[in-house]
Amino acid sequence: MNFDLTPDQKLLESTMASFLKKESPVTRFRALREDPVGYDKSLWKTMAELGWIGLAFPESAGGLGGSFVDVAILLEQFGAGLVPEPFVASVLSAGTAILRAGSAEQHEAYLAPLIAGDTTLALAWAERGGRYDPTWVETTATKKDDAYVLQGEKIFVQNGHAADVLVVSARTAGTPGDTDGISLFVLPRETEGLRVTPVNTMDGQKAAMITLAGVVVPAANRLGPEGAAAPVLDEIMDLGAAAACAEGLGVMRASLAMTVDYLKTREQFGMKIGTFQALQHRAVDMFIRTELAKSTSILASVKVSDPDPAERRFAVSAAKVELAICGRYVTQQALQLHGGIGITDEHDIGLYFKRMHVLNALFGDEEHHLARFAAQPAF
Ligand SMILES: Cc1cc2nc3c(=O)[nH]c(=O)nc-3n(C[C@H](O)[C@H](O)[C@H](O)COP(=O)(O)OP(=O)(O)OC[C@H]3O[C@@H](n4cnc5c(N)ncnc54)[C@H](O)[C@@H]3O)c2cc1C
Repeated sequence: MNFDLTPDQKLLESTMASFLKKESPVTRFRALREDPVGYDKSLWKTMAELGWIGLAFPESAGGLGGSFVDVAILLEQFGAGLVPEPFVASVLSAGTAILRAGSAEQHEAYLAPLIAGDTTLALAWAERGGRYDPTWVETTATKKDDAYVLQGEKIFVQNGHAADVLVVSARTAGTPGDTDGISLFVLPRETEGLRVTPVNTMDGQKAAMITLAGVVVPAANRLGPEGAAAPVLDEIMDLGAAAACAEGLGVMRASLAMTVDYLKTREQFGMKIGTFQALQHRAVDMFIRTELAKSTSILASVKVSDPDPAERRFAVSAAKVELAICGRYVTQQALQLHGGIGITDEHDIGLYFKRMHVLNALFGDEEHHLARFAAQPAF
């Protein structure tokens, strides 16, 4: 299989890299850590104008019809620059839910403003006790006339603190863990009874705990047939995991580059520390692990769109396990090779370390994906 980028993809990569270098240096992320939103809505609009948001959607839904490999190029650049804009939450999570399950009218109502950069979205799926299982839905949706009443709680909703529109999973039938009986609902932020509590995540970004206290949602806000949303959520979990791998690759590459640069600069005992062979070996090991994560991430990016869920799961879980092992190694070594300065907040390397920890936890950690990989029939 040829993994080389096409000339168009190379152009996309270099254009994004130079744009982000200019418009989104790490100093921007540092400043946004103190901001209640945590990202810049005007830069989000610019990203939309550059076609980055539309890239992930088919032309039939107003997008540019890019592949996931195209999207992965973008995510890798986001990782390298610690870009905090909510691409995964808005586009790959909530956006995909609306794309897959929604009607043409719902695409027009919710995807068109997203693709234009006028809104951001969030997908509220995770619940206490559910680990990484999107079918663990205790939140209920009870039909009442031409509406549903939603009752329950969602945790660590990415971009839940600032999204204009939320997509929420709720159970219209069955019990937690059942595949059947899960429905998706679109809720504008100002919906009565929707309580949003922002939380800081360890990487300096933000999320939200959400309570649905008797929220009344018109039946017209349901996405797709009642009770049939589980396959959509299953696909979104894989998209999210593949996205974490691509972003994590950017984090690893940036960490490696910063560390090699530091080894060439920092002097101890009258010489550059990069001349010490023990440190050269570590840098080589960091490079090898980065390349390994790259290979599995590329395969996951290709396979995540495979119509066969088993093919998709196999490649995505393999990549997510490699991300956990390699990403942890590379960012830990990066801190170690920076010495004492590496653990201070003033130095950027720690920001990459923390982001990697969060990426490892998002959409299934190492343990989860190892178990899922081993459970695949092809293993
Ligand atoms: C939380 C914290 C508290 C601290 N408190 C104190 C304190 O109270 N008092 C105090 O004096 N200091 C303190 N320090 C500083 C600490 O002593 C230094 O951080 C530590 O000695 C490492 O030195 P450095 O940061 O200059 O790293 P560097 O010397 O720059 O080392 C960077 C990397 O190069 C490696 N390296 C360096 N020299 C060699 C070599 N010859 N061969 C092979 N590898 C090499 C190191 O192992 C490391 O991986 C503290 C540090 C931290 C993080």
